[in-house]
Amino acid sequence: MSEKLALITGASRGIGKACAIELAKAGYDIAVNYAGNVDAANKTVEELKALGVQAEAFKFDVSNHEEAQKGVEAVLEKFGRIDVLVNNAGITRDGLFMRMSDENWNAVINTNLSSAFYVSQPVVKIMMKQRSGSIVNMSSVVGVSGNAGQANYSAAKAGLIGLTKTLAKELGSRGIRVNAIAPGFINTDMTKDLDTSKFTDFIPLKRLGEPEDIAKAVKFLAVDADYVTGQVLEVDGGLII
Ligand code: NAP
Repeated sequence: MSEKLALITGASRGIGKACAIELAKAGYDIAVNYAGNVDAANKTVEELKALGVQAEAFKFDVSNHEEAQKGVEAVLEKFGRIDVLVNNAGITRDGLFMRMSDENWNAVINTNLSSAFYVSQPVVKIMMKQRSGSIVNMSSVVGVSGNAGQANYSAAKAGLIGLTKTLAKELGSRGIRVNAIAPGFINTDMTKDLDTSKFTDFIPLKRLGEPEDIAKAVKFLAVDADYVTGQVLEVDGGLII
């Protein structure tokens, strides 16, 4: 049994891994979800254990309803509770709208949006029984502002904002808070092939974000912000002010 448990989807790398480390530093045991990169997931688990918390990797595809359900059950069986859920796993399949295939539309909507439905529903059931919990959904600034070449991704990230506000209204009376983060450009594998040097001119803070910048905001919303729900916190160096 765990005293405090955080389940973070897509925690093998990038932003999810940084969130896992930040929440571990706050004393949370961590369930590390990943899709296929077992070496990265195991390395994250080792780093978390070195911080003195319990951690275990759980391989399941968040875009698959049945797998997500079973994945949450496995986390519950191991740790006995879930206090924080970070719906972070995500992918991009960029392309102009008029050339976008069904496959690329569905892959991004399923992985970035439907996943939050699939994972959150069984987690909320647990949180309702506990009469407490906190969910943070990883949206994006492009879910707020749109972005040419990212119709699928922007639609999924905007959908997460609608889901966040609705769940905040439905679940507040049960002691469950639901918020979203909208990151700007963050240095991870997802952005490594972009020529990001041209973006810094448009960012008031004149640098890309690091995964740790997002993790601090996630920890704030998930753990510290007792009277905050239904909010979308832009963590983007001022990009879309
Ligand atoms: P990343 O470095 O590419 O890492 C993606 C993570 O998601 C990995 O842990 C990956 O697992 C996992 N994942 C992917 N598909 C999955 C699936 N179907 N089931 C379970 N896990 C899956 O990405 P990132 O940059 O850290 O992004 C994290 C989140 O932040 C995403 O939702 C992304 O849209 C959002 N975001 C990122 C930026 C940015 O600039 N980087 C900006 C705004 C929002 P494996 O390691 O097993 O593949």
